[in-house]
Amino acid sequence: VVTLHEVSRVFPGGVAALRDVHLDVHRGELLAIVGPSGSGKSTMLNVIGTLDRPTSGRVLVDDFLVDDLDDRELSALRASRIGFVFQQFHLAAGVPALDNVADGLLYRGVGRRERRRRAAEALDRVGLGHRLTHRPHELSGGEKQRVAIARAVVGDPPLLLADEPTGALDTAAGAGVMDVLRDLHTVGTTVVIITHDRELAASLPRQVAMRDGEIVADGTLAPGGAGTVLAGAGGAGGAGG
Ligand code: ATP
Ligand code: MG
Repeated sequence: VVTLHEVSRVFPGGVAALRDVHLDVHRGELLAIVGPSGSGKSTMLNVIGTLDRPTSGRVLVDDFLVDDLDDRELSALRASRIGFVFQQFHLAAGVPALDNVADGLLYRGVGRRERRRRAAEALDRVGLGHRLTHRPHELSGGEKQRVAIARAVVGDPPLLLADEPTGALDTAAGAGVMDVLRDLHTVGTTVVIITHDRELAASLPRQVAMRDGEIVADGTLAPGGAGTVLAGAGGAGGAGG
């Protein structure tokens, strides 16, 4: 789905948040990105999601070379193919859940009635069919995050990117959010999750570990689930991050 080829991202001021990163995200994958604070996880996710452009290297999204696209083309590509979820929910305050989700279909040529019908369906899928008129401040943290997921996927994007989606939640609410993400993966969505939760990461089929802007390990759960096989990517650092 997405390939990063020798990607670097240097911010103004000189911070090299990504150094020569190579990553293939395959269709239908469920993968975790792990690593210490400041290691470049969010930067990499933003580059994968085309919210940010690399300083050097190539990014391919479904065979489109991001470099070849101007900002308008890029936002069109994003709107049709990529959903985002963030730690802090990013819902519109004071707006009922149904409308928050329906807004995920704005600018996509879908009429208001149809937007609301699909939004209700998406909320039903995340287990919030009974919370359509609730506003964000009337929802629990876990419910808010599930509304945010419903909004991210209401347009059926093939790729969902989540930056610490359970970071602001307690264990139970986080587990509920993870269940929703696993369900989406089960029905075919490619899901990439940044997490600080080692246990959670270890439960996912693939983990990519970062340190100082580099991928230091890229591992797949062994068949049978006996453990994690970590193949060094570039040789720097140890396994696990
Ligand atoms: P965390 O776990 O704390 O979210 P992270 O792994 O997501 O960390 P990034 O947010 O990707 O880390 O940041 C990587 C490095 O790039 C950090 O040193 C950060 O200070 C720097 N950085 C990130 N965004 C910017 C920016 N817009 N301008 C300048 N430097 C930035
Ligand atoms: Mg981050």
